[in-house]
Amino acid sequence: MTLSEKDSQYLWHPYTQHKTSQTPIAISRGEGALLWDENNKEYIDAIASWWVNPFGHSNKFIADAIYKQLTTLEHVLFGGFTHEPAIKVAEKLMEILPKNQQKIFFSDNGSTAVEVAIKVALQYFFNKNEKRTTIIAFENAFHGDTFAAMAASGISFYTQAFQGMFIDVVRIPVPVEGQEQVSFDALNEVIKSHNCAGFIFEPLVQGAAGMVMYEPEALAKLIQICKKNKVLTIADEVMTGFGKTGKTFAMDYVSETPDMICLSKALTGGTIPMAITTFTQDVFDAFYDDDINKALFHGHTFTANPTGCAAALASIDLLKTNEMQANIERINKSHLSFQKKIENHPKVITARTLGVIFAVEIKSDSEESYYGSMRTKLYNFFIEKGVVLRPVGNIVYILPPYIMTDKQLEKVYLTIEEAIEMV
Ligand SMILES: *Cc1c(COP(=O)(O)O)cnc(C)c1O
Repeated sequence: MTLSEKDSQYLWHPYTQHKTSQTPIAISRGEGALLWDENNKEYIDAIASWWVNPFGHSNKFIADAIYKQLTTLEHVLFGGFTHEPAIKVAEKLMEILPKNQQKIFFSDNGSTAVEVAIKVALQYFFNKNEKRTTIIAFENAFHGDTFAAMAASGISFYTQAFQGMFIDVVRIPVPVEGQEQVSFDALNEVIKSHNCAGFIFEPLVQGAAGMVMYEPEALAKLIQICKKNKVLTIADEVMTGFGKTGKTFAMDYVSETPDMICLSKALTGGTIPMAITTFTQDVFDAFYDDDINKALFHGHTFTANPTGCAAALASIDLLKTNEMQANIERINKSHLSFQKKIENHPKVITARTLGVIFAVEIKSDSEESYYGSMRTKLYNFFIEKGVVLRPVGNIVYILPPYIMTDKQLEKVYLTIEEAIEMV
């Protein structure tokens, strides 16, 4: 039996309808931007394995750091204890985060980073005896799959089974080009009619919605409105963080700073699950009290896992090298010329680029759903050609590891062009 066949006996995969889906591809090896399956077929990982892997698979520099940490101190509880790797991660992040961020809280994945931020926003006002219980979020947002993160997420088929069981969330339109004023007005209206605690957003790029992009000036304006009304702002940089938008964080493009930032995905270079939520001093101070009930009673068993911290430290070091910054710029330039090449194709609705993120919307005769027939046709075509791309409906996006070579990128572009002709 192949691994793919054995898999179906016990395993339940994410976002998968097992009755109708194909058997998963068993990957046995990865190096740089490449993956090999159990039959030794080669794939280009053009989406960095769900946006986590900037520096390539089986990266030796990160692996060495992990090994060294594993054989020094693999883990210790973080309640009542601390360790150097956690402190170093904090110090290193303080150097690169927006200047108003002062405190960091560790957890395990993007959803928990968001869960922590939302709980903190709600308890912040509880601790101040102010009744504020509504969270504001964007339409078509994605913030994760735990309950508060799911409540904030607006992609409806992910969450429809749980409607009516959520915390209060009110949604506003995304300020995409031409919709800025509609978005500002909606935010003002929500704040007027609800007791709002926080506003959570994916800064500049909504990943799971299909790399939907909007301008930093619009986000700055929304944050200003929140600040004027003392609504806490939460930048969910789980996808955008660590160079993907061309700057270290998407918020580096924005003139206003948020109260909290959520980080995960590329934090450890795609090696070990870990996440961080960061806060301003003001947010932290709302929990700092003689009264134990004002503390944040949230934690995870593997909080600040030293091995994850070692991976994060090595990753941040790699990100800061001139070589990696040059890679990000190279991929951005390459995307921009590909965009120019295909945006006027009769089958292309629109194409867009920010940093290493590229997306193209393909014309479709029918209303294309998230997992619709065009999506399946495209996905299968890409896999057959040895390119890992996961279209969102009729939107094909690329989010490559930064170390992807020009030749590999060319193959990804060529495959997308062929796919556009094919559908
Ligand atoms: C992926 C993602 C999450 C959820 O992260 P998980 O690690 O999958 O729980 C949250 N927010 C954004 C913006 C994401 O892209």
